[in-house]
Amino acid sequence: MSITPFPKHGRSRPDILAHMQTLRQRDLNWQEGKVFSLVFYAGEEANQVIHDAYNLFFSENGLNPTAFPSLRQFETEVVGMSAALLGGDAQVVGNMTSGGTESILMTVLTAREWAKTHKPHVQQPEIVLPLSAHPAFAKAAHYFGVKAVRTPVGADLRADVTAVTQAITPNTILIVGSAPSYPHGVVDPIAELAALAQQHEILCHVDACVGGFMLPFVQKLGYAIPDFDFRVPGVTSISADLHKYGYAAKGASLILYRNRDIRRHQLFADTDWPGGIYASPTMAGTRPGGAIAAAWAIMQHLGEEGYVQIARQVMETAVALRQGIAQIPGLKVLGDPPMSLMAIGSDDLNVYEVGDEMGLRGWHLDRQQFPPSLHLTVNYAHIHQKDAFLQDLAAAAAAARKPALRKLGNSLILGAARTATRILPAKWVSRLTGKASGLVGASGDGLPQRSAAMYGMMGSLPNRGDLHEVVLDLVEQFTEAADGKP
Ligand SMILES: *Cc1c(COP(=O)(O)O)cnc(C)c1O
Repeated sequence: MSITPFPKHGRSRPDILAHMQTLRQRDLNWQEGKVFSLVFYAGEEANQVIHDAYNLFFSENGLNPTAFPSLRQFETEVVGMSAALLGGDAQVVGNMTSGGTESILMTVLTAREWAKTHKPHVQQPEIVLPLSAHPAFAKAAHYFGVKAVRTPVGADLRADVTAVTQAITPNTILIVGSAPSYPHGVVDPIAELAALAQQHEILCHVDACVGGFMLPFVQKLGYAIPDFDFRVPGVTSISADLHKYGYAAKGASLILYRNRDIRRHQLFADTDWPGGIYASPTMAGTRPGGAIAAAWAIMQHLGEEGYVQIARQVMETAVALRQGIAQIPGLKVLGDPPMSLMAIGSDDLNVYEVGDEMGLRGWHLDRQQFPPSLHLTVNYAHIHQKDAFLQDLAAAAAAARKPALRKLGNSLILGAARTATRILPAKWVSRLTGKASGLVGASGDGLPQRSAAMYGMMGSLPNRGDLHEVVLDLVEQFTEAADGKP
């Protein structure tokens, strides 16, 4: 790792800000509505509200609920309003967390601790995860020593209830369903999964991280959305991210439980510390007051009417995009996503090539695997972009269909990589992966503009164990980059 010298002298505020603005120029420009992940935006006025609220509570700390009763009230009301939105009654309790991942970590930890009381025979707790469930569940299983049992999804890309049923063992403590799943935007059969959990007297978590602040409003607009929340018997907890379709500032999510008895297993207290009795409900110690305050403020600002109004425009855009994509030769939307997330796949085109072509046209779309697809999270930032998007997508698909020397190069790299990973140790594969990303055309700052070959390779490696190490190598590289150099 290269050493960054610790600054000896302080710098002025304008100097620092100017420097940061310069660095920022290389970042994704999401304001144009051409980025389909990572950023959620509800318009300039709403953005101003969360900025102001965040700044007002910029210094306050949510760690100690008695020190800042204002923050405590915001959090209690955010939990209460969200419980009401998600079909909860007065029994429902919950906490704000830093994001979907922390909410999911909490639900898995809670299940493990709950099982110690309610399933004392379980030595090696297992959670059943449909393949499409978010990696945060695998992360939680990894962190907390729980076994993640992955089950296939059906042809419709939703959790396969038969497969989940067969995966249940005497050690199973939790069943997970998504509303909707991130990769394909489809809603799992929550009622069946929850009934299964009830039948086996285990817990059932609904991951509504991305849908929690969208599906209820989409339902109110009259779109056909089956119940997915606390109205469904057997659902014991729900995660919902305020910093996605809740349009709150980042660092705001919720973990909700059907009742206090279940949530009890989440709580932590250390009574023996010389620093005093220390207790905390979630992973975090210090919690940014701004994120809590901004979440409360945006809910007050938009209200149900505001959220419904935004959801209407987002859904009109999503429906238009679905219809438009279906009309482009070679492209299709995978499954039947009822909300505003979708994946674009193809039976005869290399969608990674289509993604590269879209990248050259300024659109940022995430690449997915099994099957190869491009991901869209449609939100308010995109409502004026649908025609431009569809036009460029049609052109990108046509370009991907044309034969090109580069594609031959891609398939050669792919073939070489497939052979190599059968015989080479992980370190070599790592270098090869780096090579491949370089070969397919690195732009000036080292980020590959064309990634089709790399993604094609990653998705089809015969030895996924090596890939795991390759990816960890990349994580190290990204976290050790100095001077903003990737
Ligand atoms: C975003 C998301 C998560 C994880 O949330 P983070 O805020 O990124 O930690 C989990 N599940 C689903 C379905 C999501 O969309």
